[in-house]
Amino acid sequence: MKRHETALSSGGTILRIEDLACPKCETPLQSGRESLTCSRCNQSWPIEAGVPHFVQQFPYWGEIPLEQMEEVNRRAEAGSWKSALLDFDDPDVQRASSMILNLDRANWQWLANLPPDSRVLDIGAGMGANSHALALEYREVVALEPVLERTRFMQQRFSQEGLSNVKIVRGSVWDLPFGPESFDLVAMNGVLEWVAQSKTGDAGEVQQQALRKMQRLLCPGGYIYIGIENRAMFQYLIGYLDPHCRLPFITILPRPLANWYAKRHGQSQGYRNYLYSSRGYRQLLEKTGFTDVEIYVAMPSYNDPRFLVPLKSNVFSYYSQAFNPVRGLSVRNLVRKMLLASGVYQQFQYSFAILARKATP
Ligand SMILES: [Zn+2]
Repeated sequence: MKRHETALSSGGTILRIEDLACPKCETPLQSGRESLTCSRCNQSWPIEAGVPHFVQQFPYWGEIPLEQMEEVNRRAEAGSWKSALLDFDDPDVQRASSMILNLDRANWQWLANLPPDSRVLDIGAGMGANSHALALEYREVVALEPVLERTRFMQQRFSQEGLSNVKIVRGSVWDLPFGPESFDLVAMNGVLEWVAQSKTGDAGEVQQQALRKMQRLLCPGGYIYIGIENRAMFQYLIGYLDPHCRLPFITILPRPLANWYAKRHGQSQGYRNYLYSSRGYRQLLEKTGFTDVEIYVAMPSYNDPRFLVPLKSNVFSYYSQAFNPVRGLSVRNLVRKMLLASGVYQQFQYSFAILARKATP
């Protein structure tokens, strides 16, 4: 299979802490033993246990509640990161473990088809499943994560797995210590819908700002990956809760109405977790400097993608006829039958895996 080429700017060297750039002005940082400094902005960031911290205050957030997470870290530090999850008799930890351990989460990488000497940035790396999987395939991975407890977990995970090609950086979309054209692939798995949370101003504009930052970090021809929910999921039309702000109908309402509705339901910031339809994601990416947008339906979800089906295919009607035929005459079944017959069924699924490339000048 032919691999796409990207114009890698790093010339085959491994990114060192000394190569990081100021998140504000992109000046190369000066590194001391315990901190990094920008001589231009006159600002410093600490290095703790080899991990530079570009975010120092960030509320805990994660699939495991804080108390159990601290115990997971204690156990991982004392023994094995895997047993810390698998042998922990707690329902929250058990529920989260399969997702944290699942390296197939990054199976979308095969659609990008990058050469093995690529450098990858995993934004919002969480408990490290994507970074782990990517580190097995590519020269270097930077796992960027703002939550302290999760960076501590990843440190154990990667060092116990002998994955010396993953660098952990404590940071967020808004504190990126890298110069332009530093990466061949930037992964945003379950991130774009959260980026406006910590910012003011129009949420859609904030998401565009974040995407432009990613575009700047990519080498020409480099890939962005976005794993995200579909605004037009069929179940949202019948009142299913939005998985981010836990309100019904909010995803499908026009944005100003959604904003008003969220405020009325106690969310003082309004509605910030904008999702889009496939057409919306395509427009968003094209508007922010990307090209070759390819959208796949991730089934059952982008966090557990057993199937990645190209949006422009008739696999769904085949699948439905072969394995899951519509039986009975409920309204729901009739709607499904209609959507299948008209070939738009895939437009109403739960989530997408999206790949796009930075245009080559
Ligand atoms: Zn600076």
